[in-house]
Amino acid sequence: MLVLVINSGSSSLKYQLRDVDAAEPESAVLTEGVVERIGFDGGPADHAQALSDLDAALAAVLGDRRIDAVGHRVVHGGERFAEPVLVDNEIIRAIERLNPLAPLHNPANVLGLRAIASKWPDMPQVAVFDTAYHRTLPEHAWRYAVPDWLYTHHGIRRYGFHGTSHQYVAGRAAAFLGVAPEEFDGVVLHLGNGVSATAVQGGKSIDTSMGFTPLEGLVMGTRSGDLDPSILVFLVRQGHSADEIDHLLNRESGLAALAGSNDMRTVVEAADAGDRHAAIALDVASYRLAKYIGGYHVAVGGAAAIVFTAGIGENSAPFRARVAARLGALGVVLDDDLNAVRSKDPRTVSAPESAIPLLVVPTDEERAIAEATAAVVRVAARG
Ligand code: ADP
Repeated sequence: MLVLVINSGSSSLKYQLRDVDAAEPESAVLTEGVVERIGFDGGPADHAQALSDLDAALAAVLGDRRIDAVGHRVVHGGERFAEPVLVDNEIIRAIERLNPLAPLHNPANVLGLRAIASKWPDMPQVAVFDTAYHRTLPEHAWRYAVPDWLYTHHGIRRYGFHGTSHQYVAGRAAAFLGVAPEEFDGVVLHLGNGVSATAVQGGKSIDTSMGFTPLEGLVMGTRSGDLDPSILVFLVRQGHSADEIDHLLNRESGLAALAGSNDMRTVVEAADAGDRHAAIALDVASYRLAKYIGGYHVAVGGAAAIVFTAGIGENSAPFRARVAARLGALGVVLDDDLNAVRSKDPRTVSAPESAIPLLVVPTDEERAIAEATAAVVRVAARG
């Protein structure tokens, strides 16, 4: 089955065409790319035109085969969507109703869904939600300690994000350890530009560091993560607007604020060269991450593994080492040689005597979306 995976942003459209039945995952990707500057000078006028710009690239690899289904990354599934769903008009409207919860992302996802629906009216489309895996959070984990109307009127609660990645990585980590997915207890660390940690118990998400929005939790490339909410009130009283504060905390904070760069490679190099700001940035980020790991180890009743994934988690041995160095109280022991290995395969980076194994498990959100899409379409075809 050929699945076109779409990640539709407000001015960009990322795509990947995959054969979900390919014998080797390495040969599953037929083509991929990104259309940028949608709605800007020199770019396509809208998402529909961006799709027609893809026709030639798709035709070149399709030959006489055809696309069987389209899988969309959708950021916010609210409280309704706990699983990937086959899309129809009612589903698109339901996603649209969630726009206030994800004003940057869901409207763009809806544009992508509608563009495909008008280009290929009979094409099965599946929405795969970033929040869905976290629908199993118990109430004590998702509720904020604020008056109930914030939840009932505004939907203010913790939702969590990066769910497709956390679920995929938890499943692969379980397979690597030789346990059934529903028997896996662990802590999964998605360390990319966005950063989140998930407490996995019995294969399910029971807590996660991102909350109402992806701003909560850990130190990220340009996001602050946790801070005292009174800081926002203080800034409002100082005369800063909502948009300014939004920009400040989402785009100008995190590693970028502490170290002057949101790229982990640059920050590590600067710290190694003696830059004090870069060193502090790594300390703040690794310290806060270690605190979450300790908390989630307790939450899952004892983690069977701590799993690193995404750009930093998979590639930055120095950052993994800084985190591991803070986990001595858990009996964690890193193996420096294993940690230095570069590979695309799941692997152990801790020493045999480590009380909890540290794993590196590469994520692949496009693959997870394509496989989820194929599964939904096959079930629907069986009626
Ligand atoms: P996104 O959240 O945008 O998908 P990624 O998962 O690609 O982000 O992660 C981006 C982060 O990964 C950046 O901080 C980048 O510096 C870091 N990174 C990517 N490759 C490496 C590498 N080889 N060594 C260290 N860090 C890396």
